[in-house]
Amino acid sequence: MIDTRPPTGAEKAAAGQLARALRAAAYRERTTTHAASAVPPGRLNMRQALARDAQRAAGAVPTATPWTRTVHRSGPTPPLRVGIAVDVSGSMDIAAAPIASAAWIVAKAVSLTDPDSCSATVAYDRSVTAITAPGRTPRAVTRFAAEGMGHSLAEATDALTAGVDLTQPGAGRLLVIASDGYYTPGEAARAADRLTALRAAGCAVLWLAFDPDPARCPAPPCSNSPTPPRQPPRSARPPPPPSPPPSPDDPCRPGPGRHPPRNNPPPPKGAHMTSIAERAHAAAVFLRYSTELSLYGRHRGEQHARTTVRLAATLALHPDQITVTPDWLRRRTTPGEPVLATAICPDTGEQYVFLARSPLYNDEAFELLGPCPECSAPVPVAEIRHLADLGTHLARPLLPRGDALCLATLPDTFPRDEGHATACPYGETS
Ligand SMILES: [Zn+2]
Repeated sequence: MIDTRPPTGAEKAAAGQLARALRAAAYRERTTTHAASAVPPGRLNMRQALARDAQRAAGAVPTATPWTRTVHRSGPTPPLRVGIAVDVSGSMDIAAAPIASAAWIVAKAVSLTDPDSCSATVAYDRSVTAITAPGRTPRAVTRFAAEGMGHSLAEATDALTAGVDLTQPGAGRLLVIASDGYYTPGEAARAADRLTALRAAGCAVLWLAFDPDPARCPAPPCSNSPTPPRQPPRSARPPPPPSPPPSPDDPCRPGPGRHPPRNNPPPPKGAHMTSIAERAHAAAVFLRYSTELSLYGRHRGEQHARTTVRLAATLALHPDQITVTPDWLRRRTTPGEPVLATAICPDTGEQYVFLARSPLYNDEAFELLGPCPECSAPVPVAEIRHLADLGTHLARPLLPRGDALCLATLPDTFPRDEGHATACPYGETS
């Protein structure tokens, strides 16, 4: 975010218009009730009228209610809860001004509809930044600098879901996303999970696509084959903490060196940068942002960012195409904080997972993780210092099993790596 400015007259007028539209959209259908009574007005029920006459003739207090009135009543207008997520990744640069305006207009309009309505706004690139706290009405328009890397829409959605209770019934709920949708397959898949779960919980999702050439929402609402939500509806909760250490025997943990391709969205726009100076500048901006805004704090954020930039350079990729996470499995044995860096092939969507055992040191080789021939767990199968090392590894035949396995062709770290399953002849046996 750069700074704030007062809203223009046109923006105020737009907020008023949108507020009226939101009120109209939130207008409940009238409820119809039938009330019986002893006196008019209403429609006369002959059986009840005769019963009442009989009760009176018998000297009893009449209880029959011969008149039935139909009452139409407007239900109370439900309040609105709106989350606004603004994409501030570099590819959104030209859209930054209209988005800033749109975010303010939506937040202001929500506050005008009803005193119980509320909204919250976050900006996201690789990290998530709060722009307007839940329930606060923004007095000024926040201007964004769209120069970040990455698209943490999943985390932005989590933050807003928690902030304005997007999964809790009792209010009209809406998530507004302003983005061009240029995400890596991993980012898109994680975001799609969240959006599908939100929709399943009854929250509407509005995708504000921006020109020139917007990509589609990761979870399009109108698909020909409706997919069931992959997660149960989530109750409001804060963004998830870093994932716990996977069990060594868990077959579902982050996988071996190469994964099958998932889907093939267009590569991030940033990948089209060509000049050396432009790419160097982008790398420096990426390093600064990721360090300042890391979920894991400044210190580890810098290690993650350096690892990302270094692996991106090694593989001739854009930093957007690398995802770095702490390696919970291996961290206990080394003083540094080992990290896993996953590169997604922009062409085939294949994933390659690299281990940086000591990200403090920029001169250590990456270890490519691949399936152990004995236990299939992801373990170091090649040292990668540059692209040709990866080429050499990929040209080799698959590793043989048993006595034929030649440790000389494997990294020193292979036999003692913590990644082996407990039943594997390799791995630490303490
Ligand atoms: Zn093994």
